[in-house]
Amino acid sequence: MAQLSPQLKQATPVRAVRGSGVYLYDAEDRTYLDFTSGIGVVNTGHCHPRVVEAAQRQVGKLIHGQYTTVLHEPLLELTERLGEVLPAGLDSVFYLNSGSEAVEASVRLARHVTGRQNIVVFQGGFHGRTMGAAALTTAGTKFRAGLGPLMPGAAVSPYPFAYRYGWSEEQAVEFALRELDYLLRTVSAPADTAAFMVEPVLGEGGYVPAPAGFLAGLRQRADEHGVLLILDEVQTGFGRTGRFWGHEHHGGVRADILITAKGLASGFPLSAIAAPAELMSQAWPGSQGGTYGGNAVACAAAIATLEVIRSEALVENAEEMGRRLLEGTRKIAVDHATIGDVRGLGLMIGVEFTGADGEPRPDLAQRAHKEAADRGLLLLTCGAHGNTVRMIPPLVVNAEQVDDALTRWQEAVQAATS
Ligand code: PMP
Repeated sequence: MAQLSPQLKQATPVRAVRGSGVYLYDAEDRTYLDFTSGIGVVNTGHCHPRVVEAAQRQVGKLIHGQYTTVLHEPLLELTERLGEVLPAGLDSVFYLNSGSEAVEASVRLARHVTGRQNIVVFQGGFHGRTMGAAALTTAGTKFRAGLGPLMPGAAVSPYPFAYRYGWSEEQAVEFALRELDYLLRTVSAPADTAAFMVEPVLGEGGYVPAPAGFLAGLRQRADEHGVLLILDEVQTGFGRTGRFWGHEHHGGVRADILITAKGLASGFPLSAIAAPAELMSQAWPGSQGGTYGGNAVACAAAIATLEVIRSEALVENAEEMGRRLLEGTRKIAVDHATIGDVRGLGLMIGVEFTGADGEPRPDLAQRAHKEAADRGLLLLTCGAHGNTVRMIPPLVVNAEQVDDALTRWQEAVQAATS
């Protein structure tokens, strides 16, 4: 008899049999408030009726079109609809199945376009688990250890993680940009550097929003050196941060390549890269493809996802509910000296547990996480030390559910730290 790999660990003890909105249910019909969204995927909530209906309708018509063999309606319609939400100028789209694949597709494109090899990434970043994406991932050595040799050509520069350095955000940004300039002088010459790849909010690395000025500083250097700026919006896209794209919090910063996945299709495997057509057309012939990319059912679900986000004003709701959740978690933190920092953007909130000297306390984060699960509130942890608890509910969450989660969280923290 086969069994699941014993190394495949679950963050919660739940055996889910169904989901609806912000709730998951087990076989005994126990209800769980899901503030994980399947790692930031079901932004429209579990099994949103319009997504379900669109997928069911498509299953009866055409499941698999295969985009290097035939074109199909959902693929073309989704591309048209994405044009309404993609940043100006990113008018060409290529589809894949997962975030990691899209990350690697962006690397291929950047290398083809520039004729350069290196990709500069920022420490604590997470870009995936495939061998190329793992080379770009520095959110924790567990994602890399024992795997080498990984894809060559990755260079790592600091991310402006102000809390970790004990600095102001301005100081952290100044430091990170200075170090990037130094890296370009000492490690990765501009003539060898194809792209900078960055998350607008460090995700797996600890839920750290990029402070003001950082992305603009990258853009400026990209322009100066002919380097492409790749924004990995796999976790921050599709309304998660209270804007449709996370980088919209940074004024007019323009991406050369945008990577999206997770929230794109409400749980169906679908990812994409978007770039100006002029740039996308420089991909070498045959370099873009894949058996399952742009699956017809996933595309139909993505079209419905876009409709739900617009008709239910989920971006605005993410901003409003995010503010409520952030204020609530900050209020709770006031009574707990072991909560060193509460930060976030929209519905991407991190609570970092530290000791008296600021040292990471993953034990407390784990305990709070477990106490919350015992109270029916599902959360995740993140950060290199695993000492940050993250809250990432579906964007359909309402004020009552946020307040319910805060009550359970307060009890969980109390139980974990007393
Ligand atoms: N980039 C970011 C920012 C992510 O958060 C993730 C997944 N957590 C990935 C890439 C990889 O996506 P996937 O797991 O779908 O390959």
